[in-house]
Amino acid sequence: MTSSNRAPALGFTSDNIAGASPEVVEALVAASAGQANPYGADPYTESVERRLCEIFEREVDVLLVPTGTAANALCLSAMTPPWGNIYCHASSHINNDECGAPAFYTNGAKLVSVDGPAAKMDPAKLLEAARAKVGDVHSTQPACASITQATEQGSVYTVGEIETIGDACKAANIRLHMDGSRFANALVSQGCTPAEMSWKAGVHALSLGATKNGVLAAEAIVLFDRSLAGELAFRRKRAGHLFSKMRFLAAQIDAYLKDDLWLRNARQANAAALRLMQGLGGIEGVEVLGAPEANIVFCKLPEALIEKLLGAGFQFYHDRWGKGVVRFVTAFSTTFEDVDGLVERARAV
Ligand SMILES: *Cc1c(COP(=O)(O)O)cnc(C)c1O
Repeated sequence: MTSSNRAPALGFTSDNIAGASPEVVEALVAASAGQANPYGADPYTESVERRLCEIFEREVDVLLVPTGTAANALCLSAMTPPWGNIYCHASSHINNDECGAPAFYTNGAKLVSVDGPAAKMDPAKLLEAARAKVGDVHSTQPACASITQATEQGSVYTVGEIETIGDACKAANIRLHMDGSRFANALVSQGCTPAEMSWKAGVHALSLGATKNGVLAAEAIVLFDRSLAGELAFRRKRAGHLFSKMRFLAAQIDAYLKDDLWLRNARQANAAALRLMQGLGGIEGVEVLGAPEANIVFCKLPEALIEKLLGAGFQFYHDRWGKGVVRFVTAFSTTFEDVDGLVERARAV
């Protein structure tokens, strides 16, 4: 997707400002004809389950839900008692951007932040935290950890890093969840297999994102610890997330996974981010923060440049993470022309 006949897009706030892939929309239209059994007993849901078993090279249980918040909070609810600790990075989506849904769905489990550079949890600190006050009736108890892949800062855990976290969880006898809202972006960035980046490294449950990478509105809970599946089926229904016309969620995910659309979309988003980083990095006064490994670029820009870009109609978040710090997010629909439009404008200023 390097050329298009539309005017360059100006939005870089997030990847959820993108629309949906034509393949996904066409699949929805096709799925709307005729009858299908409700609540996931339809052939589209069956196809998604089959594809995910193939993709992850093992049997998995799959529950489709409409949002990433639901996927995360429901997963966590099956992995902790109400008095449990959920270890996560301070900058994680579950900690900052889910309005307390993890606490709500778990009946009050506690999010405990474990820091580490580049929004990744430090495994040694995780192990230390998860070994504190075990068995002390006055303290909430270690239950699970949650890592984000790719992270909220655009960094990506290597397979080795996930394995180390997985080993720490094992040593502390807690389960590991992965918020894979940008799993595809991380996957193509690492060039490993989905199995290596998840269950083989010790992940028990994955929130597999799709909405930000080409789907209209659907995410998949993928369970590698299949003992969680029975409980989660009831929890999803109780939470009001068991769609009666599940075929429409399933048709989206089915098209997303078919013919590697999810990987192609992620490659485009990542390539656009890299081009943006290289373009902006060559401009005097611009400091690229960290190395974007997926589709999120953080930069420090002079105040005047931020103002000029905003004035020219570009959209991005700025000054939330520090003075002059700007976040640009690219999506599957971001073209190189879109990126070049921003870079040229910045260069002109
Ligand atoms: C977008 C996002 C989610 C899911 O958000 P919803 O708005 O609930 O779909 C989860 N985790 C991360 C890291 C995200 O960026």
